[in-house]
Amino acid sequence: MKEQISEGSLSEEEEIYRENILDHYRNPRNKEKPESCSFQHLEHNPVCGDRIELFVKLSGSRVEESSFLGEGCAISQASASMLTDKIKGMPVSELQDMAKEDVLDMLGISIGIVRLKCAMLSLKALHKGLEQYTENNRKKQ
Ligand code: ZN
Repeated sequence: MKEQISEGSLSEEEEIYRENILDHYRNPRNKEKPESCSFQHLEHNPVCGDRIELFVKLSGSRVEESSFLGEGCAISQASASMLTDKIKGMPVSELQDMAKEDVLDMLGISIGIVRLKCAMLSLKALHKGLEQYTENNRKKQ
């Protein structure tokens, strides 16, 4: 597996972030399928062959648990690992506001245009799953 995740030489700070990304990639947090969840969503990135299935369990108006299953490049898997950690305990109302910049902040290194899709895959799964969940709830009422 090729682990080159950015081009050119990195600054010392970027090097730390790079190590962090590889750590999340090799030892992913929250990588499991939960027994139950409020919503889940599967996203593919055909360009790179990445796959992320995101699970979110809500309790009241907060995220109680979040996890994922997936395979693909270091950036896609590390960002899912970081994102599921980050949204635990977060109010549901703030999930929608999670943006590209938040994910890029967590990754901490400059991401090329091709890798951006990899980085945003888990966020996309979160937003789509949430959208579907909200839509279903609206219909029930
Ligand atoms: Zn990828």
